[in-house]
Amino acid sequence: MSGVNEIRTTFLDYFAKNGHEIVPSSPLVPRNDPTLMFTNAGMVQFKNVFTGSEKRPYARATTSQKCVRAGGKHNDLDNVGYTARHHTFFEMLGNFSFGDYFKDRAIELAWNLVTKEFGLPVDKLLVTVFAEDDEAFGLWRKIAGLSESKIIRIPTSDNFWQMGDTGPCGPCSEIFYDHGDHIPGGPPGSPDEDGDRFIEIWNLVFMQYEQLSPGERIALPRPSIDTGMGLERVSAVLQGTHDNYATDLMRALIMAVANATGVDPDGAQKASHRVIADHLRASAFLVADGVLPSNEGRGYVLRRIMRRAMRHAQLLGARDPLMWRLVPALVREMGQAYPELTRAEALVTETLKLEETRFRKTLARGLAILDEETRELTAGAKLPGETAFTLYDTYGFPLDLTQDALRARGIGVDTDAFAKAMERQRELARASWAGSGEAATETVWFGLREKVGATEFLGYDTETAEGVV
Ligand code: ATP
Ligand code: MG
Ligand code: MG
Ligand code: MG
Repeated sequence: MSGVNEIRTTFLDYFAKNGHEIVPSSPLVPRNDPTLMFTNAGMVQFKNVFTGSEKRPYARATTSQKCVRAGGKHNDLDNVGYTARHHTFFEMLGNFSFGDYFKDRAIELAWNLVTKEFGLPVDKLLVTVFAEDDEAFGLWRKIAGLSESKIIRIPTSDNFWQMGDTGPCGPCSEIFYDHGDHIPGGPPGSPDEDGDRFIEIWNLVFMQYEQLSPGERIALPRPSIDTGMGLERVSAVLQGTHDNYATDLMRALIMAVANATGVDPDGAQKASHRVIADHLRASAFLVADGVLPSNEGRGYVLRRIMRRAMRHAQLLGARDPLMWRLVPALVREMGQAYPELTRAEALVTETLKLEETRFRKTLARGLAILDEETRELTAGAKLPGETAFTLYDTYGFPLDLTQDALRARGIGVDTDAFAKAMERQRELARASWAGSGEAATETVWFGLREKVGATEFLGYDTETAEGVV
């Protein structure tokens, strides 16, 4: 059985053998792209190559790209701990053709890797195509020999990719693995497709058009290929499990949590182990790429991820800061593939230690308040927004941490009232500034604060253009 590190290498070597340049992952903070909070797909670093505004010395590339989906259009934060297949941080394996090969070769390369190199049984695989893409349908019949019932036509945007409102776009085709009927979930396109039985492992994007304006689309003279395969998901398949968290790499992190806390990793609190293992990766890689916890923008997303994990550490009974003690295990597992992680080990350790030390000063008291305030509430009820705001303002609980803490009991939060309480506090802050004698500067400052405040609260919902396969 191959480990995750070997599977990554197998993928990259396979595409290198087939004429692709192995290109290192780009940082999680996209360079020169303020519209995108975090790199969330392999194609992000190649955006300008696809549009033609940047030239590279190669026409084919392959990468293992660090991705974070904890903000913006693709936010999987709330899935973590609850599905077997989502992470906030994950590695996306990809192959790219910049106007070189197209649909037939892309399908052939993918099918050959999955069935020959990886040796997956054909009868467990099925694919989707965009409903109108007869060409892809025909190629899957011809190249893979799949029966028509294994090629599912999907009419929704799930199978049509766009870089933004304008720019390159095209249909996509996804490869799914059927983990068997002992796992709940239906095939793609069915009402219960969100289960974990049929898992999407690979998305092949056929960039064949350019959207010039909302109504005007032309064919690209030299179409391109962009693919993304989740390393954790394909590793699960290759290691005979449907559960990403049971793969060797994630399991090593979970065991580090178990060793540090003494809590059974497979018992009633296994979700906490998973959340901590996942958030450890996201936190460490974000810090290694220069993000530090703060109260706005990217830094606030990082803080939210860290604090969520820290609440779970508290649930596992950790009496001292826990996260920093897990860093050596992470570096052991991933430091070779990502040397920047090894280089940043000391900074990551210190950042985690400091943040958790600080948060622990208010965490226990905040949780006690949350307990008191919800004692009488039952499933379907909502926590008053004012309480959620106090927890946010005085105890450092990001709103989503409070929501996460109540989710298992089916209790929500009155988010409208939360937003109002936030707004009221802004106004108070504004009023208390009045009359300081610097009216002109203040007007500027308040305008800025209004804007920054909005980003702070909405932060993770404000990105626009997307570079996602
Ligand atoms: P899903 O429908 O399962 O949420 P997706 O369609 O959002 O996945 P894509 O944007 O097509 O995913 O990304 C390409 C590949 O990256 C997916 O096929 C999957 O293998 C992997 N992937 C996407 N999101 C995650 C995640 N949060 N954690 C782990 N792997 C992921
Ligand atoms: Mg998704
Ligand atoms: Mg999908
Ligand atoms: Mg997809």
